[in-house]
Amino acid sequence: MTAQIIDGKKIAAETRELLAKEVALFHNETGITPHLAAILVGEDPASAVYVRNKERACAKAGMKSTLHKLPSETTEAELLEMIEQFNDDSSVHGILVQLPLPGHIEEQRVLDAVTPLKDVDCFHPENVGLLAQGRPRFQPCTPRGVQVLLEKSGIDVSGKHAVVLGRSEIVGKPMAMLLVQKGPVANATVTICHSRTANLKEVTRQADILVAAIGKPNFVTAEMVKPGAVVMDVGINSVDGKLVGDVDFDQVAPIASSITPVPGGVGPMTIAMLLDNTLTAARIAAKG
Ligand code: NDP
Repeated sequence: MTAQIIDGKKIAAETRELLAKEVALFHNETGITPHLAAILVGEDPASAVYVRNKERACAKAGMKSTLHKLPSETTEAELLEMIEQFNDDSSVHGILVQLPLPGHIEEQRVLDAVTPLKDVDCFHPENVGLLAQGRPRFQPCTPRGVQVLLEKSGIDVSGKHAVVLGRSEIVGKPMAMLLVQKGPVANATVTICHSRTANLKEVTRQADILVAAIGKPNFVTAEMVKPGAVVMDVGINSVDGKLVGDVDFDQVAPIASSITPVPGGVGPMTIAMLLDNTLTAARIAAKG
């Protein structure tokens, strides 16, 4: 069997093109250009690259983005003050605080300070609650990206056993929530695994759809995957200067029915979904 390789780069580009059209239409109707304000604290080089990519993607989609760089010694109070300003600024529609934050700043307190109406990362408890109830305001970017890849690849999710490897608030948990919801590209029976899961291999081998989000290079080997399974690899790990996923692609691709590569799989979708949320935030603001 040769797996279908899911081309995330292509699907993300198509998604962004569609979005650019929607942004233009929205602008014609309302005169509003969706505006994402990104805050970067400190000098983490990977974060700087991520933020730059987000800025570029905004520009391509016809959106405005502003980058607000703060030195690493910024206090939590100063950061909270900046967030408060953006919360009150009607020309800002989405607020993104690039993670990780320096150790002296409490991440949760900062993320909770972003008004839920501008929380384009979908991290605020109110938005997580709405998501859990199946009536999301915003979509969690990376999990939604996985869902769109499944949809565009024509993969039937309903009634399937989806196993999510990882239970983080950013990827694993919201991924499981999306897949278990009633609705399109959902209705799965979902199992969530984590570092305390017993007999992990036996669980992952039951998956019709396996989503790996643990941050361990090449962790998922062929013996952990049921032949014919769909394998979605969220992991981004740097090994000897090369990006690799959480799935051992060379081993698993020959037995999977569909698989995402790293790079060029789930990664490019995350930014596309962030832009989508920024447009949603601008629509919310336009409604008043
Ligand atoms: P976290 O480190 O926050 O969470 C990792 C999860 O994996 C935890 O729930 C942890 O379990 C679990 N885990 C770790 N080791 C094992 C193990 N040996 N067996 C079973 N479970 C294990 O990571 P994130 O969720 O933030 O990210 C996961 C990966 O996805 C990373 O590689 C990250 O770089 C990537 N990523 C990619 C994005 C993209 O745009 N494509 C966006 C965000 C992340 P426990 O809770 O018990 O500790």
